[in-house]
Amino acid sequence: MVSIHKSILPVVSLSSNAFALKKQAFGLQNEGWDGIVLRMRLQIKQYTDGPLMCNGYLVISPEGACVAIDAPAGFADWLRHNLPENAKVTHLFLTHQHFDHVSDAEEMASRLGCEIHACSPYAAELTLQSHARSWGIPEPPRFRVNRCHESGDGKVQVGGMEWTFLHVPGHSPDSLAWYLAQADVVFTGDALFAGSVGRTDLPGGSSGQLVRFIREKLLSLPPNTELLPGHGPSSFIGEEEMNNPFLS
Ligand SMILES: [Zn+2]
Repeated sequence: MVSIHKSILPVVSLSSNAFALKKQAFGLQNEGWDGIVLRMRLQIKQYTDGPLMCNGYLVISPEGACVAIDAPAGFADWLRHNLPENAKVTHLFLTHQHFDHVSDAEEMASRLGCEIHACSPYAAELTLQSHARSWGIPEPPRFRVNRCHESGDGKVQVGGMEWTFLHVPGHSPDSLAWYLAQADVVFTGDALFAGSVGRTDLPGGSSGQLVRFIREKLLSLPPNTELLPGHGPSSFIGEEEMNNPFLS
């Protein structure tokens, strides 16, 4: 494991494991994030790696449709070895373009053939290439966004799954949360974490925007919605609404 200086982490402060202990109060207990989570017959697998220990997720519908959330370094290889037989990842949903979330985006598109959905077209300013360079982290290869969702919130249908994307700027201008109501789960990227929120001192960040949009778009989801963030452990919307110190 690579040791990381706290100042380059995208989280405002490191979250406490105590939050994980309270998860049962808000929904089904998962089976641990190194394994497979079964919710409403949906499978969700988590992959965590890269210099900033970014979370990528694989969501498999009962019909076998596969969606990936974010593209941390090494995720393309991991997917090739962990996909069910004959399964194909058709969609990659990006929560935002910061370099740690898009390291494998180009490789996933070219080797797995998935189409990339994001808020905005690819931009080196959004991936923070110059920051990656100055921190000694490899810059992600350029990639093409096939579907841009710049016009606000909306829906994407994939193999029996109805996904809702929610624009939640503040950590970055292009932050999207991906919500799957039928499974009571939301992928929040670096906007909202268990016990914390995303840092807002990077280009395009705004603490006022972040808190406002988290309250409007995320805390309005059902309290038993499981929150799967871009870094760190999972939580529940109800837990964050009650106890997240950055939202009180
Ligand atoms: Zn970020």
